[in-house]
Amino acid sequence: AGSGKFFVGGNWKCIFMEDGDHTGSILFSDFTLHLKQYTQNGTKESISKLVSDLNSATLESDVDVVVSPPFIYIDQVKNLLTDRIDIAAQNCWIGKGGAFTGEISVEQLKDIGCKWVVLGHSERRHVIGEDDQFIGKKAAYALSQDAVSSWDNIVIAYEPVWAIGTGKVASPEQAQEVHAAVRDWLSKNVSAEVATKTRIIYGGSVNGGNSADLAKKEDIDGFLVGGASLKGPEFATIINSVT
Ligand code: PEP
Repeated sequence: AGSGKFFVGGNWKCIFMEDGDHTGSILFSDFTLHLKQYTQNGTKESISKLVSDLNSATLESDVDVVVSPPFIYIDQVKNLLTDRIDIAAQNCWIGKGGAFTGEISVEQLKDIGCKWVVLGHSERRHVIGEDDQFIGKKAAYALSQDAVSSWDNIVIAYEPVWAIGTGKVASPEQAQEVHAAVRDWLSKNVSAEVATKTRIIYGGSVNGGNSADLAKKEDIDGFLVGGASLKGPEFATIINSVT
């Protein structure tokens, strides 16, 4: 782990499955996103169970923990989840709210007490077609609505696309190499202070069995976890893997 406070995010995505460990898929007009590894995690009932497991878990105190439910469940989660864990939205509109059907604005997220938002996830790039410019605008607007100085509030996730949802995790050495390169980029292009302060977290098939080794690397400041964040006890193990 690096010098910043360890940060672990749970990305609950938008998967709905009837029950159990079935294979599932979401159909888009031009391709199918397969969701083999997930169990049920997108119903009021399954979310209640997950929240109750998280509430009863013992979590290392020196770790920022944030979970990101689908928009329609944020209120449910916020009402039931311990204050120890923050909530993130999985997306936001690029600017001030207005006549943008189907979008959720940063102002609305703030209104319900949601302080974090996941932006630029590869699924939104590949499936929805968001590009760097669009995501950059969203990030800039979201930060402009935040009272505290910007870089303190940015966490960068390195997620090799071949590792997301595939069960193929990067080795600690592979992840460390990229994290060090990202930090170096920040140092040269922003400032040495920002490079030291910014949490750079790894995502892609992190689970309770591989997190401890990854967390030992000096530039890995935490994790963004998809599938394994849907199991409360395993997510707790990942949070507690900070060294
Ligand atoms: C993710 O959704 O960002 C992710 C890393 O998923 P998983 O942990 O399932 O690979």
